[in-house]
Amino acid sequence: MAEDLLPLLGHNVGPAGDNNDSDSENTSSTGSSVDPEDEGLIEDEGDGEEGQRNRRKGRVNDGGDRTRTRNHNFDTTLPGTHSYLGDDLEEVRGRTVHEDNTVVTIPLLPLPGVVLVPGEVIPLHLFQQQLIAAIRRLADTDKTFGVVTYSMEPDHSPGFSEIGCTAELYSMKNEVDDQAGLSVLRALARGRQRFKVMGMHRDVVGILMAKVRILPEINVPRCLSGARPATQNKFCCSPTEQDDVVKTAVDRQGNVIKSINLVVNKQVDRFTAAHLTQWPPWVYKLYDAELLKEQVIKELHSWNDTLQAASLPTDATELSYWVAQNLPLDNTMRMHLLGVTCPIHRLRSELAIMKKCAILCCKNCMKQIARKEEVFSMSSEGPLGAYVNPGGHVHETLTLYKANNLRLVGYSSTEHSWFPGYAWTIAQCHGCASHMGWKFTAAKKKLTPQKFWGLCRSSLIPSFSKTTDKANVDTASIAGDEQEEEELILEGW
Ligand SMILES: [Zn+2]
Repeated sequence: MAEDLLPLLGHNVGPAGDNNDSDSENTSSTGSSVDPEDEGLIEDEGDGEEGQRNRRKGRVNDGGDRTRTRNHNFDTTLPGTHSYLGDDLEEVRGRTVHEDNTVVTIPLLPLPGVVLVPGEVIPLHLFQQQLIAAIRRLADTDKTFGVVTYSMEPDHSPGFSEIGCTAELYSMKNEVDDQAGLSVLRALARGRQRFKVMGMHRDVVGILMAKVRILPEINVPRCLSGARPATQNKFCCSPTEQDDVVKTAVDRQGNVIKSINLVVNKQVDRFTAAHLTQWPPWVYKLYDAELLKEQVIKELHSWNDTLQAASLPTDATELSYWVAQNLPLDNTMRMHLLGVTCPIHRLRSELAIMKKCAILCCKNCMKQIARKEEVFSMSSEGPLGAYVNPGGHVHETLTLYKANNLRLVGYSSTEHSWFPGYAWTIAQCHGCASHMGWKFTAAKKKLTPQKFWGLCRSSLIPSFSKTTDKANVDTASIAGDEQEEEELILEGW
């Protein structure tokens, strides 16, 4: 088994795991620690005791099976701390933000299977001495390096992605093994700015350097902001949309005598002003940031009903990146979203994807692995996060309540667990034996959820349904043409 398939390298993942590659039919020999409940081709928690309890609950509560999911007591702030890297990481102070469209030369860290997006946290566990020295130098300068993904070309050379994202160090720990005399670096960095690679070279010590252009974020003005008569503003705009909603009277010394808030409940449809233009209101609704945000959040709830709306970014740009990070998209789709310069366009693309996607499949053999409703957030950062194993391999991992067509390999272990209190067991696709992720089971009886799955984004691919669930498409009332446009967006991947 290749090293990068071992999630959390455990000495207890031994021959049992390797034997399994040629044992696709006989699940009973996949390792002595496999729970009998998990041995079948289909992992169905609904058949266990917990499932029976939930079904009983379902008869009482309409929420049924899914009500079990809302009451887990795991501290969801723990995964985001990456405590498996140790609690001795030191904060790196200072931030660097590059101007849009500037061309800078930065060290490049190619990571297979990882497409970093702004806002995403990336943990690093580095052993390469030159790279460690370069990162240490960065900590004293602008703290910024670039992350690009790569895949192997037919001639076995790495094919680097054209679009990448800068990562900013915010904590690190460098240690030297006295016996071997080698450095090990553990660090956390956060995605900041998108860039396009203009050229690459290796410096004298072999570090990959890239000349990159920082991609701009193009924010379009609010719909109809120029067409709407100012007299309508106080009747149809939210307070953030206008500056003069509060009228204040001051005396000569500048003291406030009286302040009146002119905001009235929306009495006029804020798209009425569209009739003063050559486009009907529905056209403006397609590109309205507030409406798009509402639709995206509603769609997110159909994926993950435990999601707290208050925990989501309120800014359209940040929300678009949050969705790009947390949707289980394959690299091509993520790269596409990363290349989009306008948050409105990005949100529209994400909305189209979410409406079309119903199931997640094995990327290798297209076997169905999970339904989208099984996605949930084990971390306060969202359902999909990057974690690093002791071998230095970064895995972007999606958490799900249930998964099908998987089989467990080897023994379970709590060593280096990304989710404190949970033991992991390697999970493979039953169809093609590809590594898919891990099953996590609670080490303590009182910890809930008692079990869940952490599947690699790089092993999954969303499957798009041909028919659209009308119940989920409330935008049909906005425009009949929108559906066609969604098709075009999807076809454009
Ligand atoms: Zn497969």
